[in-house]
Formats: sequence, C-alpha cells, structure tokens
Amino acid sequence: MATATKRPARTGKMENSEFHEFFVDELKDIYWAEKHLVKALPKMKKAATSPELADAFEKHTAETETHIATLEKAFELLGEKAAAKKCDAMAGLLEEADGIIEDTEKGTMIRDAGLILAAQKVEHYEIATYGGLRTLASTMGHEDVAKLLQQTLDNEKATDEALTTCAESLVNDQAVAE
Ligand code: FE
Ligand code: FE
Repeated sequence: MATATKRPARTGKMENSEFHEFFVDELKDIYWAEKHLVKALPKMKKAATSPELADAFEKHTAETETHIATLEKAFELLGEKAAAKKCDAMAGLLEEADGIIEDTEKGTMIRDAGLILAAQKVEHYEIATYGGLRTLASTMGHEDVAKLLQQTLDNEKATDEALTTCAESLVNDQAVAE
C-alpha cells in the first residue's frame, strides 16, 4: 500500500491554499477602504453646498457602516480575523476628494459637481472590487460569502445611480450657470 502524503482534512474552506490567502488579503484591502471612506463621507457631507447632496452623503455613511459589518461577517464565515490592509487606490481617491474641496469655493454648485465626480470614482472602485470578489468567492464555493458581497455590490450600484440623478436633476445645470 502506497503511503499517502498526509493532507489536512477537506473543510471546503481551502484554508491552506494560496488562493484562499490571496482572497482574504483582498478582503482586508476593501475593509481598509470602507473604514477610511466612512471617515471621509462626513467631511464630504459638510463640504456639500446642496442639502440633497449632503443627505446622499449622510445616507451613504450609514450604508458604509453596514458594508464594514458585512465584511466582518465574511471574515467570520471564512474563519479569519477581520483586519485592514492599506488600500492605495482608496487612499488616492480620498485624496482627490480632499483636493476638490480645496480647489472649489464653499457654497458653490461647482463644488457639488466636483464632489459627485469624486464620490462616483469611489463607488466605481467599490463596484469593481465587490464584483470581482463576489465572483472569486463563488468560484471557491463560498456561496454564503458571495451572497454578502453581492448585497454590498447592489448598494454601491444604487448609490452610484443616486449620485447620477443628483448631478442630472439638480447640480450640473446650476454649476454650469455659476
Ligand atoms: Fe462601500
Ligand atoms: Fe460606497
């Protein structure tokens, strides 16, 4: 009888695979991104000219808290500790948002147009990330995690659409007229 190499029991979690480690690392990256975004959104709310945009930022601050909690659930399902790893992309996008506030005048609609642009870049980054991670989770057989990531993905998409509506129905025409 051939002596089989001892392998860890299959748990379906792929704890020992490089792919699992890579996936968890990417979760840590978006976890960092969400944790920093939740601190930046109140600043964006304060900087906004129109109450409608301020409300949108306030709503998404609460939703971002949910995104953080949802990621914590995903870590738990994977048997991993929730940890943040610096996301250079989000750091850069938030720097851009700060730049918009510095470069535009308080109380103008041009500022709101700029804030919407900055916020939509953030949402698109999140949409790309959650879409990719959801697909990876599915591939690995982590349907429970994939479902959680899909929930957040749906919310990011709705936020992006709400920002487009705000730009089209209110902000952009007034910004052009300033
Ligand atoms: Fe988010
Ligand atoms: Fe978001």
